[in-house]
Amino acid sequence: MNHRVRPDLAAIAGYTPGEQPQSGDWIKLNTNENPYAPSPEVARAVSAVLGGRTLAKYPDPLATRFRERAAALHGVDPAWILCGNGSDDLLTILVRSFVGEGQWLRMAYPSYILYRTLAQLQGARCEEHHFRPDWSLDDGFAAGNTASGEPLCLAILANPNSPSGTCLPPDRVAELARRLPCPLVVDEAYGDFAATHCIDLVRHDDRVIVTRSLSKSYALAGIRFGYAVAQPQVVEQLVKMKDSYNCDALSIAAATAAIDDQSWLATNRAMLLATRDRLTVAMRALGWQVVDSEANFVWCTHPSGRHRPVYEALKARRILVRCMDYPGWGDGLRITVGTDAEIDTFLATLHAL
Ligand SMILES: *Cc1c(COP(=O)(O)O)cnc(C)c1O
Repeated sequence: MNHRVRPDLAAIAGYTPGEQPQSGDWIKLNTNENPYAPSPEVARAVSAVLGGRTLAKYPDPLATRFRERAAALHGVDPAWILCGNGSDDLLTILVRSFVGEGQWLRMAYPSYILYRTLAQLQGARCEEHHFRPDWSLDDGFAAGNTASGEPLCLAILANPNSPSGTCLPPDRVAELARRLPCPLVVDEAYGDFAATHCIDLVRHDDRVIVTRSLSKSYALAGIRFGYAVAQPQVVEQLVKMKDSYNCDALSIAAATAAIDDQSWLATNRAMLLATRDRLTVAMRALGWQVVDSEANFVWCTHPSGRHRPVYEALKARRILVRCMDYPGWGDGLRITVGTDAEIDTFLATLHAL
């Protein structure tokens, strides 16, 4: 029964988020959240909003305070920043703004499957260009037309990519952007964990748009806040597509406090990268193939190919990892970097299996 929605909506599966158990004590290593509490400045900022009359009024439609801080951090003008209800909101705004019904989006594959869902919701089509086995990307990603000879309206690249955690160097991204006939969105949801980023490319190329998330690196997945960096004439267009009040007063306050505490970010990042490197070495010692990651998760495959049974056995012991299956590519386990104690328990459990 399709309840009389648009037939193309009834025909698609929709995006399936990772499992989010709302009770019980799980070791949760499946959706790349930060295992630590956010900066204490966040609680202070949120309490201040709760205490006053702020919640009785609509929030600032453009989250100006946050824009000013993010702009200062990245060395651009506030007019170059657009805030969103999580970076997923920005991805929605971008796909709706650039890709019309029946038009084409290109994504690298395997990557964040939401890009394809957003194209489908728009009545648009999505071309998936495969990574090479070493997770590099050939020039086909920048081809002028789709394989079927139709014009391309937008390309999206997660960098660092999920599930691989690999990151193309900015020079390579710049080259792809130059060759592409359309704008390129560089989804840097994990950019704070990587050695390099592409925000500088935006300065020289108005067709490059970078999105960032506060969910992972700032430990704020629960409040929903992200931002895009793009040239002001692009931001001006995107603003028309967003909900008037897409970021609420509590999340604006929380996100502003978080981005102001760069020393918290540096300390948290250093801890997670150390744990990630330890996890990588330990998994390899247990016979797994692990891709060198520039994010807060690692992509692991085992020569036996028995990924789903391992996922199930861990789940039975209240440890959640992500078992990903990419048709046409293969499957594997994506494991989020937890606390040291969580990773110790995970490794001991895996060893016992
Ligand atoms: C987590 C994730 C996002 C979504 O981030 P939110 O800010 O929580 O919406 C976007 N892109 C990629 C690749 C992600 O992994």
